[in-house]
Amino acid sequence: MEERLIALFTERFGEEQAEIMRQAVSFAARVHCNQKRDDGSPFLSHPLNVASYLLDMGMDAPTVIAGVLHDTVEDGDNVQIEDIERMFGKEIAFLVDGVTKLTKSGKQTYVTKKQEQTENLRKLFLAIAEDVRVVIIKLADRLHNMRTIDVCSPQKQIKKSRETLEVYAPLAHRFGMGAIRSELEDLSFRYLMPEEYENIKAQVDVQQKERLELLSSAMEKMKTLLREANIEGSVSGRPKHLYSSYRKMQRNNCTLHELYDLIAIRIIVDTVTDCYAALGVVHATWKPLPGRFKDYIAMPKPNLYRSLHTTVMDEHGIPFEVQIRTKEMHATAEYGIAAHWMYKEGRKSMTELDKKTSWLRQVLEADETTEDSKEFVDNILKDFLGEYVFVLTPQGEIIDLPVGSTPLDFAYRIHTNIGHHCQHARVNGNVVRLDYKLKTNDVVEIITSNSQAGPSRDWLSIVKTQSAKNKIRQWFKHENREENIQRGREMLEETAKRHAQSLAILMKPEYVNEVLKRHNLASVEDLYSAIGFGGVSAGQVLHKLIDLHRKEERLDELQKKLEDAGQEPAKKPQRKANPKGIIVHGDPGMAVFFGNCCNPLPGDPIVGYITRGRGVSVHRADCKNLESLMKESERMIEVEWALDARTNFSATIRVFIEDQPGSLMEVSKVLLGLNVNMTNLSSRSTEDGYAAMEITCTVAGAEQLDVIISNLKKIKQVVDVFRV
Ligand code: MN
Repeated sequence: MEERLIALFTERFGEEQAEIMRQAVSFAARVHCNQKRDDGSPFLSHPLNVASYLLDMGMDAPTVIAGVLHDTVEDGDNVQIEDIERMFGKEIAFLVDGVTKLTKSGKQTYVTKKQEQTENLRKLFLAIAEDVRVVIIKLADRLHNMRTIDVCSPQKQIKKSRETLEVYAPLAHRFGMGAIRSELEDLSFRYLMPEEYENIKAQVDVQQKERLELLSSAMEKMKTLLREANIEGSVSGRPKHLYSSYRKMQRNNCTLHELYDLIAIRIIVDTVTDCYAALGVVHATWKPLPGRFKDYIAMPKPNLYRSLHTTVMDEHGIPFEVQIRTKEMHATAEYGIAAHWMYKEGRKSMTELDKKTSWLRQVLEADETTEDSKEFVDNILKDFLGEYVFVLTPQGEIIDLPVGSTPLDFAYRIHTNIGHHCQHARVNGNVVRLDYKLKTNDVVEIITSNSQAGPSRDWLSIVKTQSAKNKIRQWFKHENREENIQRGREMLEETAKRHAQSLAILMKPEYVNEVLKRHNLASVEDLYSAIGFGGVSAGQVLHKLIDLHRKEERLDELQKKLEDAGQEPAKKPQRKANPKGIIVHGDPGMAVFFGNCCNPLPGDPIVGYITRGRGVSVHRADCKNLESLMKESERMIEVEWALDARTNFSATIRVFIEDQPGSLMEVSKVLLGLNVNMTNLSSRSTEDGYAAMEITCTVAGAEQLDVIISNLKKIKQVVDVFRV
């Protein structure tokens, strides 16, 4: 494996590059030497396979080398991206970092797995927008993992397959990489729906064979005809991949028999002119079915797929599909964006490359206002990686939108202001309702009017795309504060009524403050207003309030239990704090230490737990570990913060910030302004334009920390701040 790879690499790129390649291989071998894959084989086989696939696809030297190194930072014990940069240069380091997850697994910095996955995807998308080679490496990586997934546990198989089907296969499709997409889909299909897979596979095997036999005379005839017409070309039968046949059957609610494109005949010729000449030959010999001819050469798909498609009828009246394309178009259909490197010579292909990532850059620009990673990633998944329809502007430009999109989505995609001032829409010349569902090939025209003051609130339930929704919300956020407050209040009241809850009980100031903090809002009016324009859901707020109320009830209950257990009643606590600033009710002499799991700060509601022999461990009332500790209710003990606690507490926060000159300065200025004493500060560049800073500072309590966090969030360059 290793020798073949290096030999091929040397042949393609020469001795100088080969030396770097050899260094990369021996570095990866050292880093992964003690690691094994799930089947017990040495880990190194994985990166070498990925590199070898990249080489076969015709990728350039830095990409192949990055393929060798792609897991060294993520899985190596002590390898930093800076090490890669020092040894292999900036370009390769960028590619490796692009496919490396944000945090090494094991370090629990994120609240949930889902959140961690979201952050990783955001980072991946940003890296792809900057250098599209990142997606090619990531897909080669995923392809090898999926090809070898049969040795993994069923849980892992399902988890990886689902992620592949939701994110990676659509990404491959977006970038026109048909071969990888088909294989990824079929592999995921096999693990997610094994029965359906086996079932359809057995049927397809039989029917494709029948079909090929049936079409073999047509294929022979086609070869002769092309020869007679002096067109050089090859003719072959192409079976469709399983998952797409399955999807088609589901969508059209039909059986496999009824899919007449189960096999297509593919003609590959030398030039574009030959494509049309071959089409003429086909149409002159077999009767074309009306409405089935598609010229993707004159009008390429947004993922740059080009071909002529037609469906004709053979002499027995059986329809079959014919696809005609040049070799280069074929490479683009199979390898998509990767074909750029294969056919690089003498082409103005940079514009094509730009086109392929323009949708991604569009999301980045349009969503500058999106602070939330989840929203950002959702926008991409829902608006760009689902199934879509192609519609046209009156000028003939192709716009792709997710299935179910309306003229409003189209208007917002063209420009925010066209969306806001959209008065009505014409599709194929006819005026349609704004909730009309667009179909492929519709020509859409938006009529705007300045008398249209802005979007209407019910547009929020009409539009399909996340980005249109965001833009409408933004507008309401800025325009109609008074109206929003009024409306938000009503919405919350209605929601409470529906859940048979009383706001009079739930809107306690301490609960409300908790909710405000959570959404980074300053006042109750802001909260109503946010509910009113749809930025915060009334249901979410209500549930948080209910939650807080229940928590307090639980604490009351706990206190009662403690009293019943004969301990000193809480009414007369012994006001004697120990050195940690904690009052242990009933037993002030007990040693106290803080749970490492939640690091409570003065001001946080807290609970104590009497450990075996180590004194009282103090946890935040919302600590996850508490639930299991609560089972031994006789060990729970009431504790509180001493009001005059002078002790200082160490707290760590993480700040994600745009990595620009002066960013660090801004953060320091804010901290200085707040008189915060920093004990440790580290900053790491993430190479996708962000810096991850970890700041440890001394604070007197939770309240002060909240002030620090909310002030840091106000800095323009700051993306996210959270308590570690
Ligand atoms: Mn990998």
